Amino acid sequence: MSELRLEGKDLPVSRTTTLGNRTGSWKYIRPVYHDRVAPCNQKCPVGIDIEAYLNLLREDRLEEAVDLLLRENPIPAITGRVCDHPCETACNRRELDGAVAIHAVERMLGDQALTRRVAASPVTQREQIGVVGSGPAGLACAYHRNRLGYAVTVFEAADEPGGMLRLGIPEFRLPRAVLDRQLEQLRELGIKFVCGTRIGKDLDWSLLASFDVVFIGTGAHLARPLGLAGEDHPAVRQGLEFLQEVNAGGRPDVGRKVIVIGGGNTAMDCARTARRLGAEVTVAYRRTREEMPAIREEIADAEREGITLEFLVAPVGFGDDSEGVVDIVFERMVLGEPDASGRRAPVPTGARFEHAVDLVLLATGESASLEALPPSVQVYRGSIAADRLGATAEGRYFSGGDVAGHDRTGAHALGAGKRAAIGIDRPLRAQRASAASPEAVPAELAALSLGPQGNLSMTRWRHDDPVRRVAPVDEVVSPELLNLTHFEPAERHADHKPNGAAATTFAEVNLGLTRNEALAEAKRCFNCGVCNGCELCLIYCADVAIRRATGAYRFEIDLEYCKGCGVCAEECPRGAISMTREGL
Ligand SMILES: Cc1cc2nc3c(=O)[nH]c(=O)nc-3n(C[C@H](O)[C@H](O)[C@H](O)COP(=O)(O)OP(=O)(O)OC[C@H]3O[C@@H](n4cnc5c(N)ncnc54)[C@H](O)[C@@H]3O)c2cc1C
Ligand code: SF4
Ligand code: SF4
Repeated sequence: MSELRLEGKDLPVSRTTTLGNRTGSWKYIRPVYHDRVAPCNQKCPVGIDIEAYLNLLREDRLEEAVDLLLRENPIPAITGRVCDHPCETACNRRELDGAVAIHAVERMLGDQALTRRVAASPVTQREQIGVVGSGPAGLACAYHRNRLGYAVTVFEAADEPGGMLRLGIPEFRLPRAVLDRQLEQLRELGIKFVCGTRIGKDLDWSLLASFDVVFIGTGAHLARPLGLAGEDHPAVRQGLEFLQEVNAGGRPDVGRKVIVIGGGNTAMDCARTARRLGAEVTVAYRRTREEMPAIREEIADAEREGITLEFLVAPVGFGDDSEGVVDIVFERMVLGEPDASGRRAPVPTGARFEHAVDLVLLATGESASLEALPPSVQVYRGSIAADRLGATAEGRYFSGGDVAGHDRTGAHALGAGKRAAIGIDRPLRAQRASAASPEAVPAELAALSLGPQGNLSMTRWRHDDPVRRVAPVDEVVSPELLNLTHFEPAERHADHKPNGAAATTFAEVNLGLTRNEALAEAKRCFNCGVCNGCELCLIYCADVAIRRATGAYRFEIDLEYCKGCGVCAEECPRGAISMTREGL
């Protein structure tokens, strides 16, 4: 007798558990777990597995998160402070309530890393690597070569290493104690620094013959003059030279009124430095705020500190005034059609006006110095010609960073140095592979790729990924692939800037987040494209087809029971499951 009757008829009722119904034979599509690429990972020029370290933090595995970060980035305490964080511009959480403050989490982890004692890397390879230039590009190449078991010597023209991190970026954005400790750790790893030695001048390139490979990361330090009448006036200075003087401890007299010409990071740093030396400062830029290349936060900080921004004005000449004051003649601009940079070009209007000021700082960009390169290294359009892995036409020389025409940021230089480290390792590994060591076979570059933009994973090059369970699918996770209904709103934490508009000292302005705030930010991460074990697929599957697993993924699908309804893929908050046609 059936337990259920309707209008006098027995209803069919299953007397077994759901497991008695093998619904798997009905389906024509089935779910597949895979790791897609989180958009933050793809956008980070350093090539950091951001999603993975945020997930480790979510699981309270802080030291492992630090380790994972250090696999790709030699100087996270620095990038966490000065990187313009394109990772956040790409973050899917923007769709809900603001990007995860990745830079601040990176800074917290970087500061944690600074407290570590570092053991020297064992030298396991016989080839010697020379690096010329100790900016982020050279440091990254040296660091990754060192960790791959090579002896590395870095030659630096300045008295201390760091490149623009030391020469250009002011103390109030990057404290010297942080920079010095970061460099000390690189020394502790066993990297040798030879400072005060300009290769091509103090030491001929031919004297580097004992090195099997030489990486050139000499940056772009040549000021570009404007070519205007009166530019040689003593009150007209190059901004970078001014910053170098102040960063080295000098405190030049800037007078009462300063005008900075330019709209990039150098311009913002000049303006904020001159303000700290007591001047009223105006930044004059020939386009509008939208086209300014400076980091957005730096522009906001400059304005908060009382710096005036004047747009659509360009200098056309300098005139002498009394008692060292200089007259600067400006012409008003309007925006025309986009130029080669993709930005709308400034077009002169003919309308002119003058300002009398005590100091003009020129911050209109720097060029690479290419005169003293080894003769075999080729130059193309003002930069060293190097391929994606930093190789030049002369196999012994590699290059990256500002001198090789990469985007002018520390993160891009770090990424270029890392790619060159892989580029240098490739042929050497191939040689060793022929000595019948299968793990030495070079990986295909596609397998190292963090998305279509071309950043590479050193972890995957080394074949020792501690978190990724399988090779990820090379597909970046768009917001449409996420199920945002499963996430609670949680406001983004803002960096602490307690000094407000004071701008009177060179103390660090941005104090970042507290550790707990940074951990809370990590927990705001969606873990785009990667299963983090939330179990929603398991809960939603009505056919009990999903089980916990210990293998490649955290869950496995019993295809005997899955009827291909797709509810798991639909409900997965992070796009870690997709539906595939049977038989494909
Ligand atoms: C004022 C200023 C502020 C900036 N702010 C930021 C910022 O906030 N965030 C950001 O991401 N980027 C910033 N940048 C850009 C960033 O600093 C550079 O893109 C980055 O440092 C480039 O790294 P690099 O290794 O290619 O060259 P560099 O950092 O320029 O280092 C090159 C090094 O090579 C040395 N060298 C040159 N020739 C020789 C030689 N022949 N022999 C030996 N050594 C040599 C130089 O002395 C230098 O130390 C800023 C730049 C400036 C100028
Ligand atoms: S280096 Fe820059 S882009 Fe990369 S994760 Fe850090 S802040 Fe983001
Ligand atoms: S939510 Fe997390 S994984 Fe997704 S883009 Fe943002 S930081 Fe990356």
